[in-house]
Amino acid sequence: MSSNAAVPQCPLRPGQACTPCLPGATGPQDCGAVYLVFSDPDLRAELHRRTIAGRENRRGVRV
Ligand code: SF4
Repeated sequence: MSSNAAVPQCPLRPGQACTPCLPGATGPQDCGAVYLVFSDPDLRAELHRRTIAGRENRRGVRV
């Protein structure tokens, strides 16, 4: 059986699939950690900064 279904990605761990790792979560859509991080402007900004830095690091760009 082949699966063409998209694998949900973890917004908190860029580049990694949602496992799901938190009790009660079935994916990013009902993950309490994702909700908390995206509800807080400072945490959301820090996640964005880390996502960009990680992406540039994987491409070999110095930040
Ligand atoms: S349950 Fe939440 S924190 Fe865990 S992998 Fe999925 S989205 Fe990420």
